[in-house]
Order: sequence, then C-alpha cells, then structure tokens
Amino acid sequence: MENTLRLAVQKSGRLSEGSMKLIKSCGISVSNGIGKLKAKAANFPVEFFFLRDDDIPGYVADGIADIGIVGENVIVEKQKPVDTAHRLGFSKCRLSIAIEKAAQYNGPQDLQGMRIATSYPNLLGKFLDENDIKAEVHEISGSVEIAPSIGLAKAVCDIVSSGSTLFTNGLKEVETIFNSEAVLIANKALSEGKKKVLEQLLFRIKSLQQAKNNKYILLNAPEKNIDAIIEQLPGMRSPTVLPLAQKGWVSVHSVINENDFWAKIEDLKAAGAEGILVVPIEKMIL
Ligand code: ATP
Ligand code: ZN
Repeated sequence: MENTLRLAVQKSGRLSEGSMKLIKSCGISVSNGIGKLKAKAANFPVEFFFLRDDDIPGYVADGIADIGIVGENVIVEKQKPVDTAHRLGFSKCRLSIAIEKAAQYNGPQDLQGMRIATSYPNLLGKFLDENDIKAEVHEISGSVEIAPSIGLAKAVCDIVSSGSTLFTNGLKEVETIFNSEAVLIANKALSEGKKKVLEQLLFRIKSLQQAKNNKYILLNAPEKNIDAIIEQLPGMRSPTVLPLAQKGWVSVHSVINENDFWAKIEDLKAAGAEGILVVPIEKMIL
C-alpha cells in the first residue's frame, strides 16, 4: 500500500524493547521473528525495518525509511536533516565526560590539551568549543570506557546511565554534556497520505502518554463539602458526582495529574474525603 509508513527501529539493543513495547501499546501487532530485517504490521499501515541505531537518522533523511525511533544523542551527533516528530520518554541516558578516578578536576579547563576518546565527536566538539577548550578528540566506535586503561586517552566522553561501568573501569564522571531520550523522527518530505498515517500513530502515542501522566480517582465525601472537593478535582470536563445509598454522602469520580497527586490527597482528606481509590488509566483521549 502506498501510504504504508516504513518505520526504522533498532534491531537489538537498548532501544529495541522500548520501541516495540510502545508499538504494541498503540494496538499495532507485529511478529518480529529472530533475525528478520523487515516485518509488516497486521492491523496498521506500517512496515518495520530492523537496523543498527546509528544508521536510522541517515535512512530517514534519505527517505529509505519514512520514520524512525532513535536516541536523541544519535540524531544530534549524526546531523542529518530529519524532523523530530515526538519525544518518547524511554531509553533515557546522558552523555558525559569521565577522567581517571585519581585525577584532580576543578572544571572544563582541566580538559585543556587532553586526549579524549569518544564515539560522539560532534557533540563533544561542541562542548569543547563552547568552553574554549582545545583538546584532542579521538574517535573510536565502541568500548570507549577502556581507552584510559590501555593508554589510548586520558579521558572519555560516553553514554552513562548508572555510572557503574565507568567506576569498574577506574573512571569518574566529571561533566554531563547532553541528556537524551528516545524520539520519533520523520523524513522532511513525507507525502500527504503518509503524513495522515503518522498523525494517527502520534494520536495513539499521545493518548498513552496522557494516560500515564494521569490517574482516575474515586472517593466518598459528605455532600455538604462537595464544592471544596470539586475545586480540587476539576477533571476532564467536570467530575462525576453520584449519590451514595447513605443519605448526605456522595461518590466523586475524576481524573488527577500524577504530579499533584499527593498534594491534592491532603486537601481532599481535609475536606472530608474518604475511601479514596486511585486507579491507572490505560488510554486517555481529550
Ligand atoms: P547498535 O548495535 O544498534 O549500533 P549500540 O550498541 O550502538 O547499538 P545501544 O547500547 O543499544 O547502542 O544504545 C542505543 C541507544 O540507547 C543509545 O544511543 C542511547 O540513546 C540509549 N542508551 C544507551 N545506553 C543506555 C542506558 N544505559 N540506558 C538507557 N538508554 C541507553
Ligand atoms: Zn549504535
């Protein structure tokens, strides 16, 4: 079908599980057999290409794939002309500079003249320029963290999540230069038909993200306090208020943002709310 979106995802690695989980949560079913490089979804116009993450920005820029899921670190590093369609909130990590544990560090000027090993020469180069540091950037494609112990470089610039890999290699993190998460990218010249399919996919993704940030809340309260309760729970349009069998009491149902959840619970209890239930929402369409 000509409007089928070709979606590039990482074949195996730290983006793969999150990417396929997101697709499945959007109600799109695909069987990606081991070793397969392509697969078609059964119930949505999308075809998957399973690739190395480094190749995804280039394939999307060239129109070999229409859209892709990749780390923002890779997109910024590769400098390919693609549109960022949406941030996806998984595979969060940071790109940091690390030096030998025993070495002194008082600020970026201590990197002056150092040889730094990295797979991210562009991102590192930008940081060094911004801080007026002249250092020797030594590009290697993997196992960056062992560079100091084999005498290849004095420092490294690499992806970190917990820092334990750095620690076991005798290194300490001294600067974070970029924070990353998975993003959905798109070719800049999608046809109108493909743009429509992308809109449908984004609609599903946003409904999931909305749902994740909100909770469904049910509680019982004395009817006389209902105004104070409603003030705390504006809901999507307005809360549902149902009478309880016991006279003078009502049940209130609404939606509450995850972030102000605890603060509101306090205020609700103060207004006489009891039997408060908070339930996850699977999908939310505003
Ligand atoms: P490929 O074989 O596809 O080239 P890779 O080894 O280059 O894979 P991975 O280590 O799987 O890449 O990381 C892919 C992306 O996942 C990174 O570019 C980054 O955005 C993100 N990432 C890397 N490390 C972590 C981590 N520890 N936690 C969360 N996300 C991470
Ligand atoms: Zn890679």
